[in-house]
Amino acid sequence: MALITETQLRALLIKGLPNPFPVMEGDKLTPAAADFLKERGIPLRRVAPEQISNPPLHLEASPSPNLIPVGVSNRHVHLSLNHIERLFGSEHKLTPLRELSQKGQFAAKETVTLQGPKGSITDVRILGPSRGETQVEISRTDGFELGIHPPVRLSGKLAGTPGITMIGPRGTITLSQGLIIAQNHVHASPEEAQQLQLKHGDRIMLQAMGKRPVIFADVTVRVSPPFSLDFHIDRDEANAAHLSSGDTVQIIRKNGVIANAERRPYLSGDQADGRSDHS
Ligand SMILES: [Zn+2]
Repeated sequence: MALITETQLRALLIKGLPNPFPVMEGDKLTPAAADFLKERGIPLRRVAPEQISNPPLHLEASPSPNLIPVGVSNRHVHLSLNHIERLFGSEHKLTPLRELSQKGQFAAKETVTLQGPKGSITDVRILGPSRGETQVEISRTDGFELGIHPPVRLSGKLAGTPGITMIGPRGTITLSQGLIIAQNHVHASPEEAQQLQLKHGDRIMLQAMGKRPVIFADVTVRVSPPFSLDFHIDRDEANAAHLSSGDTVQIIRKNGVIANAERRPYLSGDQADGRSDHS
C-alpha cells in the first residue's frame, strides 16, 4: 500500500513510465498524480504483488542520482545587526517563524516595506540570522513594481549594486547598495555533492521536468557542511518553469559534459545522439 504522488511519477519519467501503470491493492494516487497519468493517456492496471516481477517502480527506495529538489525563494531581506536595530528598535532580536531548508536559516516574523522610485512592496520577509552586510533579494518582476533594476548576482556579491529604501516599524534605512536579483544556485553538503559527483564551484545544467521543461543552462554549485541539497530559484524562474518548492529538476550537464543524454523526456521524440558520457 502506497501513496503515489505527482512528484514520484515525474521522477519516473527519466526511466520511462510503465504503461499501463501498475498499482497494488490499497495504493492511492493523489489527485495531481491521477491527472498526470490521465494527461499522458496512461491507464492504471491493478496487479497482485506476485504479478510484479521487480519491485514496483514507485516503491524504489533510492532516489535517482541526477535529481535535485527545488526551493523557491520569494523576495526577502538579510539584515546586519545594526540595521535590525534601526528598523525594529535597539536590542531587537529577530523572531523565528519557520526553519528554512538550509540548517540554521529561518524566516523571521519581522517584515519590512521596500520603497522604490516607482512603487512599494509591503510585508517583505526578513530571513535570519543576521549577516555581516544587508542584502535585499527581489525578482525582476518586483523590480518593475519598484522601478529599479538590480543585476543578477550570487549572494554576497554586492559591489556596484543599487540600493533601496527599507521601512520598518521603528525606522527607515536607505541603502547605498545591496539590492540584487539572486542568481540561481545549488546547495549541497559534501556527502550529497559526492553522491551527485559534484564539487564546489561546478557549473551544471538543470532541466525542469514538468509541463514547462525549462533548462537552467548555467547553475553554480555551492558545497558546504551545513548545506542541504536544494536548487534555489526566485519566484519569476519558478513561475516560468512551472516549478514549486519540493519539485525536482534533473542534471543534464556537468561542466559542459552531457550528464545523461537520453534522460530528456520532453525534448523531441528522436533520442539524443546516444552519447552518455555520464561522469
Ligand atoms: Zn540559496
